[in-house]
Amino acid sequence: MTYPILIYGHPILRKVATDIDKDYSGLQQLIDDLFDTMYKSEGVGLAAPQIGKSVRIFVIDGAPVSDDIPELADFKKAFINAHITERSGDPEPMSEGCLSIPNLREEVYRESTIRIQYYDPDWTYHDEVYEGYIARVIQHEYDHLDGVLFTDRVSPLRKRLLRGKLNAISKGKFEADYRTVLPGQKIRSL
Ligand SMILES: [Zn+2]
Repeated sequence: MTYPILIYGHPILRKVATDIDKDYSGLQQLIDDLFDTMYKSEGVGLAAPQIGKSVRIFVIDGAPVSDDIPELADFKKAFINAHITERSGDPEPMSEGCLSIPNLREEVYRESTIRIQYYDPDWTYHDEVYEGYIARVIQHEYDHLDGVLFTDRVSPLRKRLLRGKLNAISKGKFEADYRTVLPGQKIRSL
């Protein structure tokens, strides 16, 4: 089952998502739906709040960009109850985009190394360190669990310059090859 992607300005994207219990109803279905929705919209990662579920889950599959970023070739994971416990390394810039903010890319500074604790879909606990591009993708998706979007992480000047564009995006002025939900619209799965 796939879901439409919530677009910038939708209040669910700004909520701090909550941890779930092991017996959370429909967990495997939700993870399958996140992967299906991510593949359909050609993203590398997708967080549950982006489909309207305010829980601390995100999925990543780097296969589509493995030609450009070989380290992502075999990286396919679901992170449940994710918590980043450490970040280190000098913040480095890289261009980012987001399915919830179509047609917009900005340079974002992020730390190069992170430590993250989470459960996988078999409810096995992990405490892992990542660096490089994988650490960046994880940090981007993880931000969604805290109600943070990559445009929050640009300079104050860029933020001012982006205000009009973001406003237009929240009103539906963008091109996307996937289904979307604007602020105020209803979420319907297919
Ligand atoms: Zn995003």
